[in-house]
Amino acid sequence: MPYSIADALIAALPLPVVLIGPTERIEGANAAARALVPTGEPGRHYITALRQPALLDAVEQCLTGGKPVQSRYLGRSGARDTTWRVTVSPVGLPDGPGAVLTFEDITALEEAGQMRRDFIANVSHELRTPLTSLLGFVETLRGPAKNDPAARDRFLGIMEREAGRMAQLVRDLLSLGRVEEEERVRPVAPVELRGLLESVSAGMEPVAAATGNRIDLVLPAEGEVTVPGDADQLRQVALNLIENALKYGGPDRPVTVTLTGPAEEPALRCRAVRIAVADRGEGIDEHHIPRLTERFYRVDSHRSREVGGTGLGLAIVKHIVNRHRGRLRIESRIGEGSVFTVVLPVA
Ligand code: ADP
Repeated sequence: MPYSIADALIAALPLPVVLIGPTERIEGANAAARALVPTGEPGRHYITALRQPALLDAVEQCLTGGKPVQSRYLGRSGARDTTWRVTVSPVGLPDGPGAVLTFEDITALEEAGQMRRDFIANVSHELRTPLTSLLGFVETLRGPAKNDPAARDRFLGIMEREAGRMAQLVRDLLSLGRVEEEERVRPVAPVELRGLLESVSAGMEPVAAATGNRIDLVLPAEGEVTVPGDADQLRQVALNLIENALKYGGPDRPVTVTLTGPAEEPALRCRAVRIAVADRGEGIDEHHIPRLTERFYRVDSHRSREVGGTGLGLAIVKHIVNRHRGRLRIESRIGEGSVFTVVLPVA
């Protein structure tokens, strides 16, 4: 066994590693490499084993030039595409020059990069729409509507709404950034939820009344309900959910906010309280539900914008609930309404 030490070394490495010998054939491949490149069995020519042109070029360059070369390999793990950075390094073997290929999984890195790009594209798009409209109206006010007080008033009203939308978007972005930054640190200050829900719903009452609506609070008969948490963030959770229930629930459809517990919560394996915000709106189709907490995901973009939505409210809620080691559950029935339940551990 001429390469038994090499084989032993390769087998011990946690990364996929392939050794190509002077005859351009695969001389060794560890289990991780065999799982990644099923055609990479020893004895095969590297061209028929590796198959991906970019990687084949890199191997050829390395074998002829004697210098390390980097390349990429696209793999597949179950239903998921994976991306690997491959370093092809020249090695001197007893019977001539060869190459060692090491594969690093950079899928998460690539995905994070893609998410960042999508996020920037979304933010730019969200800001551009109101900004274009603002600039358009400024031009109209300077030109055709210069001496038309009625049109001026109407346009200023629209401009105020568009500027307000941008301000709300910036507030939500900052808030999302802050929550994400702190997500790993679990908050511990005692927060009393009865008082918190009373104050949030009292604050929202005028908003509800404006559409002939109301908020019904259903609280435990007595006693304080305290959880370890961050009061400002939990207030934001209640606010976002109640705001949505009013926005999408529709006029004259009361919103019910129910606080229950503490009780044993099997999913969290501890005692927890529940805040459920229920509306009697049109409901959400089942296939949208898993995606509602994604940033900028909306069931109906036009409707969301019309009611002043930014598409970030539920993403903020999800991050805050995660930070509190809780759960967010969404149940909905078309034509009947939706219930957003936040489950928060009491210890
Ligand atoms: P938005 O600012 O658009 O309201 P959210 O993140 O708060 O953003 O919500 C995302 C989407 O989820 C909304 O655009 C809407 O389509 C849907 N949604 C949220 N809450 C409700 C609700 N109570 N009833 C129906 N649809 C809802």
